[in-house]
Amino acid sequence: MSVFISGANGYIAKHIIGDLLDQNYKVIGTVRSQTKLENLEKQFDNNPNLTLEIVEDICKPVAFDNAIKKHCEDIKYVLHNASPFFFDTTDYVTDLLNPALYGTRGILESIKKYGSTTVERVVITSSFAAVFDYVKKDDDTCKINEESWNPDTWESCQTDNAPRAYCGSKKFAEQAAWEFLKANKDNVKFKLSTVNPDNVFGPQKFDADVSPKLNTSCELINQVIHTPADAQFDPTSGYGGFVDVRDVAKAHLLAFQNENTINQRLIMHNGKFCSQDIADVLNEDFSCLKGKIPVGKPHTGALYNSPRGVVVDNSKTKQILGFKFIDLTKSIYDTAAQILKTEGRL
Ligand code: NDP
Repeated sequence: MSVFISGANGYIAKHIIGDLLDQNYKVIGTVRSQTKLENLEKQFDNNPNLTLEIVEDICKPVAFDNAIKKHCEDIKYVLHNASPFFFDTTDYVTDLLNPALYGTRGILESIKKYGSTTVERVVITSSFAAVFDYVKKDDDTCKINEESWNPDTWESCQTDNAPRAYCGSKKFAEQAAWEFLKANKDNVKFKLSTVNPDNVFGPQKFDADVSPKLNTSCELINQVIHTPADAQFDPTSGYGGFVDVRDVAKAHLLAFQNENTINQRLIMHNGKFCSQDIADVLNEDFSCLKGKIPVGKPHTGALYNSPRGVVVDNSKTKQILGFKFIDLTKSIYDTAAQILKTEGRL
């Protein structure tokens, strides 16, 4: 029996696939092009347990039909990970909202058509973005837990900037999944869980994936590494919550392996950070960066002070998952060490 995963060449997905192969699952992944397919096969050493299919655009109504139909006898678990996560767009509907929403609906429709009796568990990679109120992100009277929902509407999430629209995209995608299940409880067999990570840090699965511009969340660390010491630096910028990619991958496996994750939204969050915390770890732990990056105002970030902004209580998630999350210092350190090693600076 196989695990089907969409967006297989993504930052988080490669870690999930690595864990799945380590646990001897057969994996069927989707990527957008033949070149991406061949690159990914090579990165996983042409592992015979990894089969890749091309799904060019998850926005298309029957995008997943062929891939799921072809493997429908084998697929027991589906992890829907593909979704646009970038901010350099002003066409929020075309580039963010539609792919997130239609991709989620589309893969579930394909399961209903071809995997209604075989697919037992579905895990949607949702986001903390689907949980918190973007407008109240700095409001420390605002409490967030596994019951919370981003209150933005389709229209209001487009009124500010791309990050807010992205948050909307993840809310509407996750909501569509729960609604699909409610509407189709007699037509499909699968149980649903969602994994809702905050900003994900931690190394790329493969050193070769370190490039001048990294995936949106790791780019926050990459940018501080490449900010000259005399450049303007706002120590409070980039404020938010974080979780390590290795924990996010682990959660995706437990989300379909365990009974206690059924119908749960797993909020992956292990504290807050801001640019100052990143600068502190870089300055204190990497001598090669001494004098080359901003110092800011050491120890004024979230690592050393009560975090500001929304208060997150994900104790239910941590209790369900039952493992200790990687801390911020290690997550920043491991991300930076890989970048510096790849650049020949370590
Ligand atoms: P990546 O950008 O590395 O991965 C995104 C994946 O989705 C890629 O495989 C990408 O394909 C695919 N994809 C995007 N749009 C489309 C489309 N229209 N059609 C087909 N495939 C598409 O990001 P991450 O690994 O960081 O994110 C993976 C998932 O995790 C996303 O659902 C994201 O929303 C979620 N997430 C990420 C967080 C983070 O901090 N990293 C936090 C919370 C949630 P291609 O490479 O070809 O563009």
